[in-house]
Amino acid sequence: MHDRVALVTGGSRGIGADVVRALARDGTRVFFTYANAAGAAHALVAELGEATVACAQSDVGDPAAHEPLVARTIARFGRIDTLVNNAGIFAENPFDGDDFAAWRAGWKRTFDVNLFGAVDLAYVAMQQMRAQDVVAHGVRGRVINVASRAAHRGEMTFADYGASKAALVNFTKSIARGCARAGIVAFAVAPGFIETDMATETLAESGPAIRGDIPSGRVGGPDEVASIVAFLASGGADYATGTTIDVNGASYVR
Ligand code: NAP
Repeated sequence: MHDRVALVTGGSRGIGADVVRALARDGTRVFFTYANAAGAAHALVAELGEATVACAQSDVGDPAAHEPLVARTIARFGRIDTLVNNAGIFAENPFDGDDFAAWRAGWKRTFDVNLFGAVDLAYVAMQQMRAQDVVAHGVRGRVINVASRAAHRGEMTFADYGASKAALVNFTKSIARGCARAGIVAFAVAPGFIETDMATETLAESGPAIRGDIPSGRVGGPDEVASIVAFLASGGADYATGTTIDVNGASYVR
């Protein structure tokens, strides 16, 4: 994996930061993005070394950001073997609110970041992948989308988040089938509750109930998602293209 290059969105914190660490540990050079946390992002580059890892501020919800981001990654590391669409946002958006504008804004922002960010960046990154040499088994590039258990459940108080992740799972299947002949494989990873900033508030409010609902009895760590992403990026699962791996302590088994 020493000549490989990955582009990871939202690598400054949480799951994304551990994905960057896991890929770098495997010898992959990683270009990652952040939205606001410049300090954390540059600390991660310092931790892993500038020869291996680079970062840039880039709002995944801004369609104008994708082409410059892909160009910067290629200018820095020469190619893109793996795209990890990890950046995402989560907010409660209950059915029984009385503010229609807030409801609408929640759906729009959630879809702009969680779905369209991933869809648009994949489109641009795959233009590069199609132009690259085959690395193994006819594969030129891999797209790994970080979805969620919420994709499958019918969430009660954040339907927008669940729907955005369900669409991301379906998009993964479409890449797998629609881009296979171009040498591109795609996977989704669907975590349940993972101990990151995103889950802090919910866990603080309802930690015992959430843990009680997880047969494993514990919330997962970001490293437990990252190790799966690194395996998918290794090529070891290429023939499983189109699938989604659940990472949820058996809290939702399909
Ligand atoms: P997190 O701790 O909140 O970190 C989010 C990361 O995404 C940060 O690096 C953040 O950058 C970046 N980001 C947010 N909005 C962005 C934007 N508009 N443009 C670019 N980057 C942006 O979240 P996490 O828990 O690691 O979540 C990572 C992924 O896993 C998300 O897709 C999330 O939906 C999914 N997931 C998480 C859980 C969970 O329980 N934690 C469960 C299921 C799925 P800054 O640091 O600059 O803000």
